[in-house]
Order: sequence, then structure tokens, then C-alpha cells
Amino acid sequence: MIPERYSRQIYYRHIGKEGQDRLSRSTVVVAGMGALGCVAANELARAGVGHLRFIDRDLVECSNLQRQVLYDEEDAKQSEPKVYAACRKLQAANSEIRLEPVFGDLNAGNAETILSGADLIVDATDNMETRYLINEYCVEHRIPWVYGGTVGSEGMTASFLPGGPCFCCFTGHGDAAGQTAGRTCSTAGVLNSLTAVVASLQVTEALKILTGSDAVRRNALFLELWENDFVPLPLEKNPDCPICVHHRYQYLGNASGTRAISVCGRDAYQVVPATEKKPDFESLKERLSKSGLGNVVVKSYYLEFSGPEASFRLFPDGRAIIRNCETEGRAKSIYSEYVGGL
Ligand SMILES: [Zn+2]
Repeated sequence: MIPERYSRQIYYRHIGKEGQDRLSRSTVVVAGMGALGCVAANELARAGVGHLRFIDRDLVECSNLQRQVLYDEEDAKQSEPKVYAACRKLQAANSEIRLEPVFGDLNAGNAETILSGADLIVDATDNMETRYLINEYCVEHRIPWVYGGTVGSEGMTASFLPGGPCFCCFTGHGDAAGQTAGRTCSTAGVLNSLTAVVASLQVTEALKILTGSDAVRRNALFLELWENDFVPLPLEKNPDCPICVHHRYQYLGNASGTRAISVCGRDAYQVVPATEKKPDFESLKERLSKSGLGNVVVKSYYLEFSGPEASFRLFPDGRAIIRNCETEGRAKSIYSEYVGGL
């Protein structure tokens, strides 16, 4: 018997009953739950991918609502973590699949854990460093992944399959940021129709890969949506690629010490401790309150501190966003002084 829920997909000749069964047995990680992640997660959940894991470190904000289709005003008002809001919305749409939220930062220190078990990874991140990490993980574990990037009205997508050209073959090592000349969605804006198009292209490729289709696109695609340009780009293996040929990884397995990363579009740094440790919000609140250095508020998903010398938001996994901070060193020293343990 054809299950009613997926009948339109099963009647579709390139998926069928067998393809649908394959989807239901698949685990897909959606890395990043912003604009691309929302659209991709929505389509994958409704298509019946049996196990979806969502990774994101951010809380819903008002400026997200223009394009991040799984969130609403109440989520922004409550500053709900995107991964929890997304799971709630999508579990209501499909209660038959397993949804797994990971509220945190994907980095070299935890990639082996939080990407494990994936049959495919959808890249919906907003930075090249995480893409290089995903690429190395996928090369090492022979897992396919689908890249997607957007800014303004320009988008790019490509699928990377085990044994084929990898992301590093495509971009050259460490130089991919040049493609968008340092522009980001925070500074150049982004069309919500573009993010929907790119994420849907990514999902289409993901569905082909998961169902074993041989119609997977073998080139990369650049699109300029406002100008109606869709330009295929060559995707060829670099016979001397440091990643997929020589397996000399730059990120994977190289979890360096505590990192402070500039937060895109803001005067802030994110500090990620070298080892994940769960801060005790209540005892920290007590200590900081007694110090007289500023005000402390503990919310459901974070601790907020604001004082004349420092202000930051600390999350349950130990990372913190340090605001009004100009240098990496200053961010780390604020973390040490106020949170401790670096
Ligand atoms: Zn390569």
C-alpha cells in the first residue's frame, strides 16, 4: 500500500517506493539553520528523510524573519535557539521522522561527534572555514555533501561526492572567500527568493544522491537571480589536491586552543573554549553579581552580562559572544576574567 503522506513522491517516477524507503532510512545533517537551512530542513522533513540533525549556534532575531521561513515573531521575542524552534515547527509537520537539534558551534573540536552517522550533509553555513571543515570530514569519511552560498542576488551550489572533486579542488585552498569579495548578507543584504532557490537546488541534489540517482549535477552552478543568469561552472578534480588526494587536512583533527572569531557584521567576537565545558549559570551569576562589575540575567538558553567594562552572552556549551570588543585578544581576556577557565 502507498502511504498517503508520501504518495506524490512515490508516484513520481524517479523516486518511487524504493526511493522513498531509502529516504526514510537516511540520516541528513543540516549545518546551519539560517535562510538556506530553514528551506532545506523544511523540504527534507516533508520529503520523509528519516533522521535529520540540525546544527546552529544562533538565537532567532527579528532580522531573520525576512527569509528564515521556520521562525516567527514569537520565536524572535523569546530569543529561542533556531534549532529548537525548527524542530518544533517541523515535528508538527511530520511526526513520523526523528529530528535532532544541536545547539552549538560546529568546529574542528566537535566535528567528529556532531557530524557522525550522517549519510549526507547539507551546507547551510555562512562561512568558508566551516565549509572547509565539512569538506575534510566528508572526504575522510567518504560522505557526500551539498554546498550552497548566497549573498545579495548571487548564489552558488555544487555537490561533492566521495572520490570525486572536492570543495578544495573547486575553490583552491583557503581562497574561496574571494568569490564574494568579502561581502556578507549583513553588509550586502540578500533576497529571500534567492535563498529559497539555492536551498531547493541543494535539496534536489540531496534527494538524487540519497535515492541513488545518476542524474546528480556534476558541475557547479552560479546564479545571479536578479539578472536571470544561471551559469554552470566546471568542477574538476585537482590531481594534486591537498585534501582529497593527499589527505593533508587543515581543520579536521586540528582543534587548536581557545578561539575568538569575529562575528559577521557586528562589533563582537565569539569565544569558543578549546574543550567544551558546561558553565554553571547559577553559581556564575552569584559570583558576577557579588563582584559588582555589572548586571547578570539568566535566561532559558543563555546568561547575559552587561557592565561598563564588558558585556557578553554565555551559552550552555561554554561559548560566549563578547560585544563591543575590537580585538581577539581582548575577547579572550574578557572571557578569562569574567567566565574563567580558559
Ligand atoms: Zn580535492
